[in-house]
Amino acid sequence: MEKIVNLAKRRGFAFQSSEIYGGLASCWDYGPIGVELKRNVKEAWWRDMVMRRADIVGIDCSILMHPRVWEASGHVAGFTDPLVDCKLCKERFRADKLMDAQCPRKPSKHPGECEGELTEARQFNLMFKTFMGPVEDTASVVFLRPETAQGIFVNFLNVLHTSRQKIPFGIAQIGKSFRNEITPGNFLFRTREFEQMEMEFFVRPGEDERWYDYWREERLNWYTRYGIRRENLRLREHAPDELAHYAKACVDVEYHFPFGWSELEGIANRTDFDLRRHAEYSGKDLSYYDEETKERFYPYVIEPAAGADRATLAFLVDAYDEDVADGEPRVVLRFHPRIAPVKVAVFPLLRKHGQPERALELVAILRQHFTVQYDQAGSIGRRYRRQDEIGTPFGVTVDHQTLQDDTVTLRDRDTMQQERIPIERLVDELKRRIEV
Ligand code: ATP
Repeated sequence: MEKIVNLAKRRGFAFQSSEIYGGLASCWDYGPIGVELKRNVKEAWWRDMVMRRADIVGIDCSILMHPRVWEASGHVAGFTDPLVDCKLCKERFRADKLMDAQCPRKPSKHPGECEGELTEARQFNLMFKTFMGPVEDTASVVFLRPETAQGIFVNFLNVLHTSRQKIPFGIAQIGKSFRNEITPGNFLFRTREFEQMEMEFFVRPGEDERWYDYWREERLNWYTRYGIRRENLRLREHAPDELAHYAKACVDVEYHFPFGWSELEGIANRTDFDLRRHAEYSGKDLSYYDEETKERFYPYVIEPAAGADRATLAFLVDAYDEDVADGEPRVVLRFHPRIAPVKVAVFPLLRKHGQPERALELVAILRQHFTVQYDQAGSIGRRYRRQDEIGTPFGVTVDHQTLQDDTVTLRDRDTMQQERIPIERLVDELKRRIEV
């Protein structure tokens, strides 16, 4: 993990937030390479969950919502974690995650196993509060949303009436969520501000179990489709005593992070809880009328809820590799071409004979289609290494032959094979290899 965090900082994937002021705990800023990586993760999700499907539409809701939303959803009363304080070192821990935490004074021990005595657990609400309007009184308290799902539920009728969807159908959203986590950590894994990729799939009661099974498989396969190794993924079904009160079933897609198996995404059968609660609290009828069967009912909801930052971290961890190239050790990120932050790097072999000029002309063409980097500094071997380290799948070299016959060499990051191809075929060839 340390290697990955160092690489991330050195190559511009992620930096500590407000670093020049000493940093803000658990908040991270994505750098020029990281922002491309995360965008690709979100775009892959949107493409597969919305663009390629006739039965799912997208939405983008505001972060601030009516306070009653969070009463109806159960977050005001129940979105809590149990908190304990150590009377000796004054640190705070999640009472249900003590085995994952270290005593700050004796890191070989868990909190409570050292000399420090822990207080009784008390419930701590994870929602961030803020004030709307200029007067800080209780009437104007609003919350930063702790999940994107509720924006989807409260818009159920709006989407139903404007999109002409019929059950079964889904509404998807990508956006920021905020949780005042007691123990954030592990780099991008658990932060207080993060991005979610959630989809609520509305189905007829009775068909919920079939759709739950469908989404379990679909979501697991999504990660392997973009290159995560199957042996680093598993599904973990929740035990009945772990389930949220509204859930009929829930399964986590877990990834084998360097710090252990941990949740990437949760897939839950939320029953008809959410729509019924919002109907009750808002006084609006949120039931669904089936034109064919002439029945009115509250749909059940299957929810695959993923974290964009956690997925980004998993793609980064899974891509990390060290091997030997041309007799030298290299660090290489073996990203799937769709996920890779930079798709193609262009190098003039020499900094003379018109090669840089020709290479820059090529860069201008490629930039219309892909994220491109141009590099003319240092030996060609070192330039390849720099690109391998950020996972660029393709390298294009302009050499003396290019100026004679308009061909370039195309190098593959993983096989390190080079082949010569005409410039006029380059864009199509790269597209063919990237859009798999
Ligand atoms: P955890 O048990 O790790 O706290 P959760 O079960 O509370 O997560 P959900 O409410 O199911 O998480 O949220 C769906 C997804 O949102 C998670 O699978 C995760 O990918 C992401 N997520 C949740 N909390 C955080 C966080 N603090 N930082 C980063 N991502 C998060």
